[in-house]
Amino acid sequence: MPYLTSSPRLDVVMLILAITSISMIVNVIVLNAEGAGAEARSAVRDTANSDGRHGARGTVFGGVGQTAGFANHDWCEANYVVTPWCAEFWNTATSCVLLCVAVFAWAAHRSLQLEARFTCAFVGFGAVGAGSVFFHATLWHSAQLADELPMLWVSAAHTYIIVATEDKPGRRRTSLAAALFTGTVLVSLLPVFYPQRQDLFLLAFGVATLVNIFLSTSLHSRISDSAARRLYELGLLSYVVGVVLWLVERTHCHQPLVQRLQLHAWWHLCSALGWLYICTFWIYLRCDVRRLRPFVGGRLPLESVRAGVAVAKAM
Ligand SMILES: [Zn+2]
Repeated sequence: MPYLTSSPRLDVVMLILAITSISMIVNVIVLNAEGAGAEARSAVRDTANSDGRHGARGTVFGGVGQTAGFANHDWCEANYVVTPWCAEFWNTATSCVLLCVAVFAWAAHRSLQLEARFTCAFVGFGAVGAGSVFFHATLWHSAQLADELPMLWVSAAHTYIIVATEDKPGRRRTSLAAALFTGTVLVSLLPVFYPQRQDLFLLAFGVATLVNIFLSTSLHSRISDSAARRLYELGLLSYVVGVVLWLVERTHCHQPLVQRLQLHAWWHLCSALGWLYICTFWIYLRCDVRRLRPFVGGRLPLESVRAGVAVAKAM
């Protein structure tokens, strides 16, 4: 499979992605090296709580670090500022967008009678959105799992979609599905049994995402439809911008400007759009293999794949 693309723009995006990925990995390693494990995080929380920024006084759900039942990471957004019913209002509100794009992707492509793998992706991404709402609204550890575990499962669905893109209609890859299922079960145990080690989850999710992006980029280089190619490029760009914002928020939260910008909420919006565009690109490719003469219709930001011929019964 050729991994270099024929598009200079995409090469630049891939370069940025590689740099940000390396930064994330270095960030995780440095955090560990500095002892940013449970004790260090508790100390940070205690300091933050002392100024009321991340504290839980007068709130409905309590706060991070108060008891063993709370999440291992508190994001930059100040807690319970907008309403006592929601820990991080803007992070929670933008999480709803994740859920909305999953519903849109499902509804917009219903007539194409896509295979179950795409249903898994739609449901999985919707579950990520619902888990994210739950997590940012409460900052409970159980809610954190409801946010993080679907991210791992939907990544496995993405891998299946990408690897099986060019399969003949009707072919099922049982071995691949079993391997992805087993691997995801094992990786899912990490955040369950090591609740204070968010870095393990970030590493697993980061590697899975990188593999999926590199495989998708290989597929992108093989198609000529400019609208479908542009969808992937926009999706990748949106995702990379989101990752950069996530990284800045994570590493520079002590800066007053970063605290005001709500960068994690922007990450939600960028990743939602990125997922929608890249998923639509995968749908285009699959419909092309099914000889549906697909084309990209609608208008940005809500484009979708349409079939140029009548769609037969789902394969
Ligand atoms: Zn989030």
